Amino acid sequence: MTTKSILQILPPPPPHMVGDGFRVHNFFPSGYNLGKWSMSPFFLLDYNSKVSFTPRENPRGVGVHPHRGFETVTIAFHGKVAHHDSAGNSGIIEDGDVQWMTAASGVLHKEYHEQEFSRSGGLFQMVQLWVNLPAKHKMSPPKYQAIKNSMMGKYVLPANNGSVDIVAGTFKEIKGPAFTFTPIEMYIISLKKDATLAFSLPENYNTGLLILDGNVKINHEEEANEDTFTVFQKDGDEINLEAINDCKILVISGEPINEPIKAYGPFLMNTNEEIVEAMNDFAQGKFGKLED
Ligand code: MN
Repeated sequence: MTTKSILQILPPPPPHMVGDGFRVHNFFPSGYNLGKWSMSPFFLLDYNSKVSFTPRENPRGVGVHPHRGFETVTIAFHGKVAHHDSAGNSGIIEDGDVQWMTAASGVLHKEYHEQEFSRSGGLFQMVQLWVNLPAKHKMSPPKYQAIKNSMMGKYVLPANNGSVDIVAGTFKEIKGPAFTFTPIEMYIISLKKDATLAFSLPENYNTGLLILDGNVKINHEEEANEDTFTVFQKDGDEINLEAINDCKILVISGEPINEPIKAYGPFLMNTNEEIVEAMNDFAQGKFGKLED
């Protein structure tokens, strides 16, 4: 085992609103240019750090919009998100749940605060990742995985020192339920103060840690504070964590997709021609129908 070196611990960039329901820090691709250390297959990370919304009858959110060529992965930590898409899927992402939506050939969807959460208001914290698809799957049919917290793999630390929810991949031989098109590891780690945890990830994967709660010491050297995103180099296969106080951490790690990327708004393709085609298909209503 060799330790994966820390490349950088990134503080959260200034937030912006997505619609009127999501106040997000975009770590990449806009917030930081990670260059050759790109986080592929993860194309975008929007992080809604903890914020309190006032009660409102009419839920805040983002209206109907298209996606093609990738997957949106939405994780709720506080608050509840409701969504509908033109493939006929809908549901509520509750605290601790993950929604893994494969837009692929194209869907329209809308994302809102869930009605009861909107009425009561309160603490809201969530993540949305855009996961790229390899060229051969960009035009696959849309797909949808509602991953409730209870469906996730569970690893419990000795002496009740914390736990790990495994969303995708395998953590210490425990599997997560998400189907992924390319190899991806995704875990939500909760550690009690002073707990330590070591785990391994493939050396060639792009890997990052988002600190959702608390502070953690990484690899016995650097401290990562709440709301920071730590990017690792591809030079080792082990990460060591030591909780400075009670903490919660999202781990994302995946095998890079080494293909050209053309990104435009809600479309993520390989060529300019495919972007033009996506815009034309959207204009012609080929992404289906969804009411506002
Ligand atoms: Mn969307």
